[in-house]
This record gives sequence, C-alpha cells and structure tokens, in this order.
Amino acid sequence: MGTLVEFTTHGTGQAQALSAIEAAGSEMQRIENLFSIYGEGSNPVKLFNQSPPGIMQQLPAEVATLLETALKVEKRSGHAFSPTLGALNKLWGFSQTEMPALPPPDGEISELSKASFACLQHGSEGSFSHNGSLCELDFGAIAKGYAIERGMEILQSHGINHAIINAGGDIKVIGTHGERPWKIGIRHPRNSGEVITTIEAAGEISIVTSGDYERYFNHQGRRYHHILDPHSGMPAARARSATIITSNAILADAWSTALFVMGHEGLPLIGKMGMNAILVDGNGRIHYSKNAESRLQPSRSPPMLRTSDIKTDP
Ligand code: AMP
Ligand code: MG
Repeated sequence: MGTLVEFTTHGTGQAQALSAIEAAGSEMQRIENLFSIYGEGSNPVKLFNQSPPGIMQQLPAEVATLLETALKVEKRSGHAFSPTLGALNKLWGFSQTEMPALPPPDGEISELSKASFACLQHGSEGSFSHNGSLCELDFGAIAKGYAIERGMEILQSHGINHAIINAGGDIKVIGTHGERPWKIGIRHPRNSGEVITTIEAAGEISIVTSGDYERYFNHQGRRYHHILDPHSGMPAARARSATIITSNAILADAWSTALFVMGHEGLPLIGKMGMNAILVDGNGRIHYSKNAESRLQPSRSPPMLRTSDIKTDP
C-alpha cells in the first residue's frame, strides 16, 4: 500500500498488545498481497486481469465481496469511483516508485478511460468476466480500507478494545484513550504539518482522506495526481482533499475517493447515506457535509464524534 502503518493501543499490557499488532500487521500484509496489481508474484486479481475476455472467472469470496461493494459505490457515485481503472492507472504510472515526469498521450488516456466503463459482467456466486485486456481491476482506492477494517478485527480478537490503526493518514479508532477521546488531525492539503481540523473520536470511527498531495508530479505549472476522473481519464480537479468519517473503513476509503472526484456537489449524497465529510475544493475552500457542519467546524470546539452520531446506510 506504499505506506507505513502505525498502531496505537491503550489499556492492554505490552506483550499482549505486541502480539496483537503483529497478527494485525500480517493480516494487512496478506490483504495487500491478495489485492495489489503491482509488484512481483501472482494473485487472483492479477490472474483475473490476465484472463481471456468473455469467460467467467470464479473469484475468491473475499475478492468478490470487495468487488461487489466497489461496484455499488461505482453505481451510486455515478461512476466517479471505478474499480476497473487498472489499465489507466498503470498508464499514468502513479503507483511506480518514481513519479512520472509527463502525462501520457491524450489518445491513450481517452481510449483507456472509455474501455474501463461498464466492462465487467457479473455471473453467479462471485464469478465475473471482463470484456477485454483494457478492463483491469484495481482495488487501490478501497483495499486499504479493507486492510484497516480487518486489522482492527484482529486486534479486537486479541482482546484489544482501545486502539488506532493509522495507515498513512487513513485511520480507524475503537474505544478511547483512557478517560479522553482519541484526537485525530485532518491534514491540510497544501500546508504540510498543518491540520484543517481536529476530530475527537470515541467508539468505532474511521476517518479516511483522499488527497492530491499523496502521489503527484508537476508539469508546465500544473499538478497531476493519482485520483482520476473515470469520465475523462484525467486527474480529478474538483478537490484537493476529501475526508469521510463513518464507522466502516471500507466505505470510508471508497467514498473518500468518490467524493474527491465528485467535489462538493457530492456532499448531499454523503450526508444522505449518514456519513460525515470534509472536502477541500479545487480552490482551497473547505466544505462540510450537512450533518458534519455543526460538529466538525474548528470554531466549535471541541468537535466531538461518538459512534452513536454515525449511522451508515450506503
Ligand atoms: P485513494 O488514495 O484511496 O483515493 O485511492 C487512489 C488509488 O485508487 C489510485 O492510486 C488508483 O490506484 C485508484 N484510483 C484512482 N482513481 C480512482 C477512481 N476514480 N476510482 C477508483 N479508484 C481510483
Ligand atoms: Mg480511497
């Protein structure tokens, strides 16, 4: 996932915490190996991408379930989120270690973005087919949320009730820090080291941000970053960062990417689903989803969220 993962626990002895963290870490690594379309080694997602067109492939239940969730987000977001952008993402090359220096040719961008549209066929019981080699699954915008979710389940199965998992700014918390809630800063998309707001979280809460500062290059005075608008195949321009706050980290991850692409016009939809959001738009203005406004604006201190504030119905 190209990031360090930081675990914080409270209220458990060190030995118990360490073995829980080790188990959660290996589970998160297993998920990365299962879903990543980059790097060495084979996995069911790469095999699906290389499979012949038009022939149903049985996906492992875990992969099929995450794909089904991703397809629901795709549909509900009006194709702002797409799990079939693999070929286009590879063309741009943001997941390589070295950032690219130039955008790819326009013709290839539009060919691959068209090819990614509605290119999957859903068969029975977790089987899928694709319609050609330009239709590649890419779970890059949702698998980290799944890894965080599973990592937290493992911590809990080891008796940890108060913890934070922080995977490069994508966060899930459970419980509290003793008498106090956990404090989570939302980073400013331009001024590194600054936060736009701090959230106090108690209970099960995921806070996931998609930002144009994570992987990008500048070319002729323009920033090209890794979150693409599937409609154009170009880096989405309506936001600098999009944060979703809800209980489930999978939905927080998928919808932060979707909201980033949709821009502030996507906020009513996020509110309707019972999630909270903070969006920094393309001009640097900060917007809140309706339900988040009263709780999260920095002027109203302390901003406080409890699990009972969050009802997600995606
Ligand atoms: P995130 O950082 O969670 O917003 O995910 C970004 C990653 O997801 C990129 O590196 C791509 O692999 C992939 N991606 C880029 N644009 C999209 C999109 N519109 N929908 C789904 N996945 C995307
Ligand atoms: Mg995401």
